[in-house]
Amino acid sequence: MTLLAAKVIWVLGVVGWFIIRYPHDRRARRTPKLQRADGGREIVLMAISGAGLGVLPFVYVVSNAPHFANYPFRPWQAWLGAALFAAALWLFHRTHKDLGRNWSVTLEVRDRHTLVTSGVYSRVRHPMYSAFWLWALAQALLLPNWIAGPAGLIGFGTLFFLRVGREETLMIETFGDDYRRYMARTSRILPGIY
Ligand code: SAH
Repeated sequence: MTLLAAKVIWVLGVVGWFIIRYPHDRRARRTPKLQRADGGREIVLMAISGAGLGVLPFVYVVSNAPHFANYPFRPWQAWLGAALFAAALWLFHRTHKDLGRNWSVTLEVRDRHTLVTSGVYSRVRHPMYSAFWLWALAQALLLPNWIAGPAGLIGFGTLFFLRVGREETLMIETFGDDYRRYMARTSRILPGIY
C-alpha cells in the first residue's frame, strides 16, 4: 500500500457511498412528508459533517494541504482504514435496505412511516450513524494528515451528538411506547456498549 493507493481508496469509498445512496435519494424526493424538524439547524449540521467527511479530506487528497499537518504514511494503518471503509459501505447498504422508504437525509416523518426494528436495526437504533462513524474512522486511518484525517470524526461527531437525542424524541412522539420498548432493548450505535 502506498499513499497514492490510500487516497484512491478514500475516493472510491466516497464514490461507493454516492452510488449506494443515489436511488434512495431519488425515491425520498417522491415520498410525502408529514413532519420535519428544524430545517435550518439540520442544514448547518450537514454542512459541518460534509466539510469533515468530504471537503477537507478532498483538499488533502488533491493537494496534500495543509502541509504542516502531514505525518509519515504507515501501510498497516491504511490497510485497516480500507477494511473499515469496506465495512462502512456494507453497513450503509444494509441500513438503506432495511429502512426503505422511511429514510430521510434529515429528521422527518414520512406519510405511512413505519418503525423498523429488524435486520441491522435489531440490536442498534442508529446503524446508519454507525456506518458514518466507521467511514470517519476509516478516513482518519487512510489519510496521514492530522487535520484532514480526523476532520470526519469531528464533523460527523458534531452532527451525531446534536441530532441523535432529537431524533429519538421525534421517534417517541411518532411511535410512543413501541419506540420506548425498542430503546430499552437496543443500543444507539455499538451493540451492548453505547
Ligand atoms: N438514525 C437512523 C436513521 C437515519 S435516517 C440510523 O442511523 O440508522 C433518519 C430518519 O430515519 C429520520 O428522519 C427518522 O424519521 C427515521 N428513523 C430513525 N430510526 C428509525 C426507525 N427505527 N424506523 C423507522 N424510521 C426511523
